[in-house]
Amino acid sequence: MSDAPRHTRLLIIGSGPAGYTAGVYASRAMLNPILVQGIQPGGQLTITTDVENWPGDASVMGPDLMVRMEAHAKEMGTEIISDHIQSLDLSKRPFVAEGDSGTTYTADAVILATGAQAKWLGLPSEEQFKGFGVSACATCDGFFYRGQEIVVVGGGNTAVEEALFLTNFASKVTLIHRRDSLRAEKIMQDRLFKNPKVEVLWNHEIDAVIGADGSTGGPRGVEGVRARHVETGAITEVPCKGFFVAIGHAPANDLVKDQLELHNGGYVKVEPGTTRTSIPGVFAAGDLTDHVYRQAVTSAGMGCMAALDAEKWLAEHEAEATAAAAE
Ligand code: FAD
Ligand code: NAP
Repeated sequence: MSDAPRHTRLLIIGSGPAGYTAGVYASRAMLNPILVQGIQPGGQLTITTDVENWPGDASVMGPDLMVRMEAHAKEMGTEIISDHIQSLDLSKRPFVAEGDSGTTYTADAVILATGAQAKWLGLPSEEQFKGFGVSACATCDGFFYRGQEIVVVGGGNTAVEEALFLTNFASKVTLIHRRDSLRAEKIMQDRLFKNPKVEVLWNHEIDAVIGADGSTGGPRGVEGVRARHVETGAITEVPCKGFFVAIGHAPANDLVKDQLELHNGGYVKVEPGTTRTSIPGVFAAGDLTDHVYRQAVTSAGMGCMAALDAEKWLAEHEAEATAAAAE
């Protein structure tokens, strides 16, 4: 618990590729930024394995890449703090952020790089079995299902990647998708269709996760899913011990959803070609603002842009303040 507010010219919130890249650029611009990591230091790439599209590395482990990014930002001079921002007041300057640690941060400018979080189907049975067979992270939980059958739901890159990764453990992986084609990259689809452990159930939505609820004294756990054909309504039960939800991510906009303009289902709106939000001095980068690309490299690119935009804004703002004080 700390009493005195920590003031900084630039506060970066988030430690994914956007946040760390903003840290590198802002440090090299001599802004002495503070970066608050949040509860997922390193961001989403820490829950994946091989990353094959980070330029310069044909293959790199996600967690390793993020450790290197953190070290790089630190080396350049970013002060990296293990804390989570619970509230942010953008109504006046300096902006005020409250950390879970009890620390208050005040900042002349803020870069929001809070990324995105896994989406869930919203079924009561999904909620009932979370942590008891239902997961949104194959890297974290795949190992528990060695030699067992697994179901993955979704049709994007995440679902295909998770399904392929899970074949390392499972006896069989069934991918259930609500349409008759995947939106994942073609190279990923090829790998999926060639894998003998994978079966795809097309045009089905998950009706319910079924399993033992533990009420009769036995262990609580998933035993299968009930899937419904989207046109005929026919029900198919697919047995499984692990059910992985991989249907995308929602922008982590909790801190700002009532303060900044949003669009496309909750993504922070920025002026096209910049990272400027609807409040001067507040910049947004990465998956928080990007409903289209959502890649590590695009997030890093936006982190760079945000630091440069913040530097320019601070220089102009500070010059105006100095001129006003001199009058
Ligand atoms: P994120 O990585 O989402 O990081 C957000 C950060 O904000 C976290 O550090 C979190 O702790 C912090 N935060 C959130 N709220 C707060 C708060 N209130 N206070 C403080 N901090 C906060 N992309 C690729 O290019 N290649 C891949 O191979 C690839 N594989 C992927 C595999 C999986 C399983 C997933 C889920 C995504 C994958 N992606 C991949 C997408 C990529 O991970 C994201 O595009 C990228 O991580 C987004 O970076 P970001 O910096 O915007 O945010
Ligand atoms: P995504 O591309 O948005 O795909 C989400 C998938 O889930 C879609 O197929 C969607 O179906 C399905 N879906 C959504 N809501 C559903 C629901 N309620 N019930 C059933 N299915 C539902 O999300 P993502 O796969 O997580 O990828 C997010 C971003 O990260 C993408 O830009 C992706 O390229 C990137 N990423 C990249 C890599 C890589 O490069 N290796 C790996 C992972 C992620 P529809 O198709 O019918 O809409």
